[in-house]
Amino acid sequence: MKVLKFGGSSVASAENIKKVVDVIRKIEGEAIVVLSAMQGTTDKLIDAGRMAERGDEGYKQKLDGIRGLHMRTVTELFPSQSIAPIQMAIEEDLRELERIVQGVSLVGECSLRTLDNILSFGELLSSSLVSMYLNAVGVETGSLDSRCLIRTDSNFGSASVDFKETNSFIEQYFIKSDFGGRKSKLTVVPGFIASDTSGHTTTLGRGGSDYTAAIFAAALDADVLEIWTDVSGMMTADPRFVRNVREIPRITYREAMELSHFGAKVIYPPTIQPVMAKRIPVCVKNTFSPDDFGTLIEAETSDAKMIRGITSIDKIAVLNLEGSGMVGVPGFSKRLFDALSRSQINVILITQSSSEHSICVAIEEKANDRAKAAVDREFEYEIAVGKIDPLRVETGLSILALVGDRMRFHTGVSGRMFSTLGHNGVNIRAIAQGSSERNISAIIESADVRKAVNTLHEEFFSDGNKQINIFVAGVGTVGSRLLGQIEQQFQHVSDELRLNLRVVGVATSKKAAFADEGVELGTIKDVIAEAEASDIAAFTDSIIERNLRNSIFVDVTASPDVVETYPKLLQRSVSVIACNKIAASSELKKYQALKDLAREFNSNFLFETNVGAGLPVIKTLEDLIRSGDKVNRIEAVLSGTLNFVFNSYDGTRSFSDVVRQAQQEGYTEPDPRLDLSGTDVARKILILAREAGYAIEMADITNVAFLPESCLAGTVEDFYAEMTRQEPHFRKLLDDATAQGLKLKYIASLDAGKASVGLQSIGPDHNFANLSGKDNAVLFYTNRYADQPLVIKGAGAGADVTAAGVFADIIRAAR
Ligand code: ADP
Ligand code: ASP
Ligand code: MG
Repeated sequence: MKVLKFGGSSVASAENIKKVVDVIRKIEGEAIVVLSAMQGTTDKLIDAGRMAERGDEGYKQKLDGIRGLHMRTVTELFPSQSIAPIQMAIEEDLRELERIVQGVSLVGECSLRTLDNILSFGELLSSSLVSMYLNAVGVETGSLDSRCLIRTDSNFGSASVDFKETNSFIEQYFIKSDFGGRKSKLTVVPGFIASDTSGHTTTLGRGGSDYTAAIFAAALDADVLEIWTDVSGMMTADPRFVRNVREIPRITYREAMELSHFGAKVIYPPTIQPVMAKRIPVCVKNTFSPDDFGTLIEAETSDAKMIRGITSIDKIAVLNLEGSGMVGVPGFSKRLFDALSRSQINVILITQSSSEHSICVAIEEKANDRAKAAVDREFEYEIAVGKIDPLRVETGLSILALVGDRMRFHTGVSGRMFSTLGHNGVNIRAIAQGSSERNISAIIESADVRKAVNTLHEEFFSDGNKQINIFVAGVGTVGSRLLGQIEQQFQHVSDELRLNLRVVGVATSKKAAFADEGVELGTIKDVIAEAEASDIAAFTDSIIERNLRNSIFVDVTASPDVVETYPKLLQRSVSVIACNKIAASSELKKYQALKDLAREFNSNFLFETNVGAGLPVIKTLEDLIRSGDKVNRIEAVLSGTLNFVFNSYDGTRSFSDVVRQAQQEGYTEPDPRLDLSGTDVARKILILAREAGYAIEMADITNVAFLPESCLAGTVEDFYAEMTRQEPHFRKLLDDATAQGLKLKYIASLDAGKASVGLQSIGPDHNFANLSGKDNAVLFYTNRYADQPLVIKGAGAGADVTAAGVFADIIRAAR
């Protein structure tokens, strides 16, 4: 004997019912087939009852919907010549249903008992439809109203089964009386419904058809219980939330119960109890892909896994009972739970601090008003005398749970769970771990659930590849090269570093485009052209709203407005990669605040390209400091532009022409005066000094300017014109140096905490004498590198190397 249950989606349409019949045809031997209502019907019935009760005529529309669905299915299933009696049978049920709901609307009252009566029509209709169809296509079938055999108490809406009576009725019917004297080996029964001792219809709770099937299976010692649904078994997470879920081929009863209790809908948790007691295996199978293995639920599995799955329940409220009067006084928790139990409120999770100063209980959100009233009433006296505070209720929460029998054999699982969540800015309100260590649960904000489930799934189940969600502000020269590199390196990074880089958003100063599946990088110009108008504040708000795991924001602009958004991003654990130098070179207070935020919220604030473009200057400095070294002096050529300009300016071309070439080659800042005035170099040495541990401000840096003041006024074009006029000034600088056999270099230095920048004439044996083109060089004199400095040298400007540096920061943050 086997018992099969088909869920609402399996019987949702004529087409689906045909699939169900294909499965049923293949059954060998005796079987009971339990059916759910057609998908959506139970919800519509609840709505109809509640609407009728409050006099809302909309109930008629709900009933019409139910009628339409069933009648349409009849026409699609049966040939026209034999349809009349079928339609009549269905019509009879529909009329009866309409009569009851009409009655509710007349008296304006719908008790839970009446509601159960209304709900029963969902399963009654679907089971009579399917059994008539089975008979019509030649599959001989008996049918039976499960209300005759399943006996419950009168707790309408979620009745408790009287197993003694029920089991004996079922045995009586199927065994003792030889299948009720019927000929067929197949019996179709409606799920979900039962009756109490007075013969009133009851229901077993939402999703209860699974339970009906388990009750039959256990009573008859079935060989197997098959739950046929719309997915190929239980998965490592809800497939509607997580893309790369895995099927779970084998799982224990206890694990399946924990998973479903904590939200995985596939199987209704009470279902497990009766079949587990009799060790009847349960198979979860897919009606739409019947050859898939599905999931086998059994007592022990050979297929031991540390973590089985990740699941969540929404619409949770947390009750916090707090007060100094509770400490050391026995009986408080008993009274709390008694009060909740008297109000029929189900407790899902409990935590208590060891100081006994507070108890925290999770319940369904819909019961929170009742809970507050009940608990405040219970502790009325203690609240009045100030021993405890009135109950504090928080809503908008969810429970997230990691489930697995073998977790208890592994240490560090909860550490891994919480650090993964922490890195993604998921705020944890409460934690509970059962002493069975079969599940670890955390209460988090509902808005974070999707991100949390995905992050944990990636951590515990992915084949190693981590999804990185990137947002790029600025698609100028460096920005577009960066996007090009991300596209080019995608496969390599995925294969070698196990990171899937996905650019989810790009923005210019006026527009922004998002694509959750990843922006088309190959056609980025078109993407931007078609993007919607947006400013940077809206762009970053949207990043926060999306709340994606492993989010990285990349600033490849030179805009102060973008910098203003860093704090809110870092606070939400979105890492910030700044090519933009404004933040790191702003007031010390701001720079420190950003670094502190990154530390506090487990995000990264990286700006390697602020100094020496792609050269690993800041990272090296950081490594020195971290390993206990002390930086005493820095000498550096930090402007690729100025190095290029003074290397190329030999008197054959005007200074202005040389600067223009530097700009055209993409070495300069968007406004080349930032380079020429020494401001850019000053910013860089400021950043190095700070990273080396010196608390200095821009104003503390001595800047020996070589550019005449007059060049700084007006537009960039005015600047070029003025430089042309000032050619004799530049020529004199060059000639004076050449006359002494020296070369011009723009040098930054830090010595004993004092920083300066300026043009110097250096001799042929100076460390920087042979620095060519747009190269940068940094010399670190430290305790460890006292006589011979640690030298970092190489191309220090240019879009490609800068983009590569940003790319390296992205990888660093991602890992
Ligand atoms: P039925 O109508 O057949 O009773 P349900 O809707 O009750 O089906 O349950 C099946 C659904 O459960 C799937 O469609 C899936 O979206 C959802 N689900 C949630 N968590 C899980 C999980 N861990 N594994 C598989 N399915 C899950
Ligand atoms: N039809 C009921 C419900 O939707 C029972 C079930 O489908 O299992 O809850
Ligand atoms: Mg279900």
